[in-house]
Amino acid sequence: MQETIFSKIIRREIPATIVFENERILAFRDINPQAPVHILVIPKKIIPTLNDITPEDAPLIGELFVVAGQIAQAEGIAETGYRTIFNCRDDGGQEVYHLHLHVLGGRPMRWPPG
Ligand code: AMP
Repeated sequence: MQETIFSKIIRREIPATIVFENERILAFRDINPQAPVHILVIPKKIIPTLNDITPEDAPLIGELFVVAGQIAQAEGIAETGYRTIFNCRDDGGQEVYHLHLHVLGGRPMRWPPG
């Protein structure tokens, strides 16, 4: 699997503001935040896109959402609400090909997205 800048963040080769870590998952603040709270929750395992998730990954993908909910609580946006997004490939607006769940909050989100 092709490494990305997120592998370097996992290995602490480039800095990031990390807000959560366990054996399987890392979460850190987006370097170009699109909302007052913008955190990326990623599996340490390299899964390039949503297309590459396998049935064996199901517990890991579920845990990404459990962690996202815990982060929302910790960041104080659980009550006001927030948005979670996986962008997939070109039309989905994906730039980094290492699966990541965006957690955005702290302001009202528009719908539909552009
Ligand atoms: P996506 O367009 O869904 O692939 O999102 C990639 C996200 O990664 C963007 O929101 C970027 O701002 C963010 N990003 C890229 N490089 C870094 C970095 N070094 N540290 C934190 N976030 C980053």
